[in-house]
Amino acid sequence: MKVHNVEMVISAVKPEQYPEDGLPEFALAGRSNVGKSSFINKMIGRKALARISSKPGKTQTLNFYRIEEQLFFVDVPGYGYAKVSKTEREAWGKMIERYITARSVLRAVVLIIDLRHPPTNDDIMMYDFLKYYNIPAIIIATKADKIKKGKWDQHKKVVRDALEMDKNDPLIVFSSETGLGFEEAWQEIEKRM
Ligand code: GDP
Repeated sequence: MKVHNVEMVISAVKPEQYPEDGLPEFALAGRSNVGKSSFINKMIGRKALARISSKPGKTQTLNFYRIEEQLFFVDVPGYGYAKVSKTEREAWGKMIERYITARSVLRAVVLIIDLRHPPTNDDIMMYDFLKYYNIPAIIIATKADKIKKGKWDQHKKVVRDALEMDKNDPLIVFSSETGLGFEEAWQEIEKRM
């Protein structure tokens, strides 16, 4: 998809605040600093997205971006940031659980991980959580430009094994630097719209 139009619609905490357009939604999740904003910016062809709560530890909200009047990207605050308090972590968990379990327009969660390293315990927990609720996942293994092409398959296998990935969930090697995986990522999103 070639994106021309993106609107930041709402920064929501409660379900009453979610948009009611009925458009398909794709939530974006990943550990802090994994490259989630870079992924979003690459996908929508922007340098910098208007961000409400980019700093870890700040008010945690779900940010809804309407794209081409056709779908929403829902930016989920990053997880796994060490300095977040137990209370904040629990609030995050409640917010994401409430969204994921009750949102009928949610088509898939795009889970961003780092291709260079094995998935973290937080990544594994996030994926397990999605599978527990039968939510389709699209795994984006980003920062691929940082490792040799000849190593990609080996690293993909480590990811598939560590997450015990469902065969129906795609694993896409991505780079926000080079644009690698852009077409494939949009294809996987568009076929679930
Ligand atoms: P977020 O916290 O998950 O939103 O992460 P950011 O998108 O802010 O990225 C964190 C850091 O990783 C930044 O310094 C980015 O420039 C860098 N980064 C993100 N994606 C890539 C990538 O695909 N390749 C490389 N080489 N660096 C990346």
